[in-house]
Amino acid sequence: MSYVRVVDEFKRYQMGENTIVANNGITFEIEKGDFAVILGPSGAGKSTVLNILGGMDTPDEGQIWIDGHNIAEDTTKQLTKYRRDDVGFVFQFYNLVPNLTAKENVELATQISPNALDVDEVLESVGLSHRVDNFPAQLSGGEQQRVAIARALAKNPKLLLCDEPTGALDFETGKSILKLLQNTAKETGTTVIVITHNSAIAPMADRVIYINDAKVRETVLNPRPRSVD
Ligand code: ADP
Ligand code: ADP
Repeated sequence: MSYVRVVDEFKRYQMGENTIVANNGITFEIEKGDFAVILGPSGAGKSTVLNILGGMDTPDEGQIWIDGHNIAEDTTKQLTKYRRDDVGFVFQFYNLVPNLTAKENVELATQISPNALDVDEVLESVGLSHRVDNFPAQLSGGEQQRVAIARALAKNPKLLLCDEPTGALDFETGKSILKLLQNTAKETGTTVIVITHNSAIAPMADRVIYINDAKVRETVLNPRPRSVD
């Protein structure tokens, strides 16, 4: 069975009189160590899928298998533990704590984590050894995103979930972040899932899941994904 397997997942939101169907029977699989991209236009339902994969939201129907365990059947308590121990999140605008240094931001994430990796080693792996004592405001956007990735990876998560991770960066910096995510999947076996509306990212992924209008329209495997450089 695939490492991630979403089966016939539905999510609806009630807005007054109206029901919005955000996910209308979503099915896909992702293998361990894949660099996977979920691609689709704004409003397609990508964030809803990411939130459900990360245990931040629950589906109305369907199965969400992660490493052989269906989190759709988890209790709230189990889901809180899953979110804390097994999932790393990376956001478009980094979400670092401004009054903590790069290293302290990463340490904060490891304090509650049972699988935590060595903080200095993780910062080195994202190319930030020379910046560990800097505060977020002293770092470039790309460096801040590297801290955010280090923070997420330091938990040694099952899934690294990234929401438009290059969306706030210029083209070259965005490329370097994509390269880091691609290498992370390949070298550490971490399963990396990126949601984006930017189709330029698709050729770099092992697997591209196209979502439009709340459904998966196509899944494409790249046996030889283009290396980012
Ligand atoms: P995407 O990430 O692809 O832009 P979303 O998953 O955010 O798409 O949204 C899919 C649909 O669900 C959109 O129509 C959006 O307005 C709606 N939606 C998402 N979250 C909520 C919510 N909390 N309440 C109501 N509607 C929502
Ligand atoms: P937008 O219209 O969202 O600004 P861009 O084409 O500027 O889209 O690209 C946004 C991000 O996507 C860039 O920062 C870069 O990381 C990535 N990207 C786009 N095209 C490529 C490419 N051909 N090679 C590598 N990265 C790319």
